[in-house]
Amino acid sequence: MISFGPVPSRRLGKSLGINNIISPKTCSYGCVYCQVGKTMKKGIKREAFFKPEVIFEKVRQHLKQLNKENQPDYLTFVSNGEPTLDLNLGKSILLLKKLGFPVAVITNASLLFDESVREDLFKADWVSLKMDVADKDTWQKINHPAPGLDFKKHLENINLFSSLFKGLLCTETMIIKGINDSVENFSNLAELIKTFNPCKAYLAIPIRPPSVKTSISPGTEIMNLAWQIFFKNGIKTEFLTGFEGNETGFTGNIYEDILNITAVHPLREDSLTNLLKHDNADYEVVNSLIKQRLIQVTVYKGKKFYLREYHLQI
Ligand code: SF4
Repeated sequence: MISFGPVPSRRLGKSLGINNIISPKTCSYGCVYCQVGKTMKKGIKREAFFKPEVIFEKVRQHLKQLNKENQPDYLTFVSNGEPTLDLNLGKSILLLKKLGFPVAVITNASLLFDESVREDLFKADWVSLKMDVADKDTWQKINHPAPGLDFKKHLENINLFSSLFKGLLCTETMIIKGINDSVENFSNLAELIKTFNPCKAYLAIPIRPPSVKTSISPGTEIMNLAWQIFFKNGIKTEFLTGFEGNETGFTGNIYEDILNITAVHPLREDSLTNLLKHDNADYEVVNSLIKQRLIQVTVYKGKKFYLREYHLQI
């Protein structure tokens, strides 16, 4: 499933998600809080996934099915893994821009050592870089980087990219209790982030089921502390700590809508109910998808979420 939504996004308004990574989940990181499950293929070598023309055509068709009010504000690469591992990302961005929408990429920034990745990202209008930590040991603990990645160089490449990127640049920091929630990490991270002056630094907590169940969010006291430290450093900072709404995009095909959205974004029960209502469907559809092992249900913080079920390909 290549495109899904649009899903409401605090950062991007209505965002039509694009998943340019073919299953199984392929990433250069294995973050303990990842909401698309465990990394099945970990590495830093770029490869070809979908052809850019295929992505363009799928998105074009998807946009055609949306009514005027549902037209997105952004086309956003938010993948089943790390979008910059796609060798054709730049070509896809250029093609998609022909549809008349700005393009955003949410990346973990670990491949910025590769000039072709930086060149591809320069073509986007909005880029969010993951920055959870300011030291190598915590980086290992929280992001589980692939072999071959070097923390010092990683920071240098973030600096290099941010000094040359002409679009809107944001950072996102996921805060996990007991791992990167210390004053020391917040202070060092703020020192790093302020040097490249992002338009916004987001502080997030896991609000959807993480890949490692013990990855839990810190209390409000800690979140406030992090915000105060960032603010004191002159960084425009916002929390990303709540559910971002319960609207979902409708293509009219309930099976596809559920599968597309749950492939990259756990679907909370109330959103799923809305989606079913809109398409005059009922939970029979959901039960059938569960029986076919296409989606699974999980409970997190007392709420039911539906996720795409992946099977290891050997
Ligand atoms: S959170 Fe992003 S970077 Fe981390 S493992 Fe998941 S997909 Fe990869």
